[in-house]
Amino acid sequence: MNSRNYNDSNIFAKIIKGEVKADIVYENENVMCFKDISPRAPVHILIIPKNRYVDLSDFSSNSKAVEQLSIFQAFSEIIEKFNLEKNGYRLISNSGKDGRQEVPHLHFHMLGGKDIGKMLSL
Ligand code: 5GP
Repeated sequence: MNSRNYNDSNIFAKIIKGEVKADIVYENENVMCFKDISPRAPVHILIIPKNRYVDLSDFSSNSKAVEQLSIFQAFSEIIEKFNLEKNGYRLISNSGKDGRQEVPHLHFHMLGGKDIGKMLSL
């Protein structure tokens, strides 16, 4: 997927623009992190770039190094802020139809605070 296919009406674009409220837990120039509205674990944080990227392949191909660094810095911030280092966590990024991506703006789910279970429910 390419950022040319990016749809500005998606809900995360509205959160970034401040048109829709979110419980923001960390933010820097390039990244926003907020609580998922339907948490699947005691800690369920969404980590998103502020620029317009549909998914991870779009981000990998088209983002600047500073944006990529910012995403990894945000991972570290969330792990520290929610004390996830000791017992661990899971990081997920869904893409496209097979990945069952619902919101077409790149996001990472950081899940923790309990045993997250098997990787896939087969
Ligand atoms: P996906 O299936 O695209 O990987 O996940 C999208 C996630 O966004 C879901 O976990 C869903 O609960 C979350 N979400 C959808 N709409 C909103 C919203 O308006 N606010 C917040 N904070 N999360 C949302």
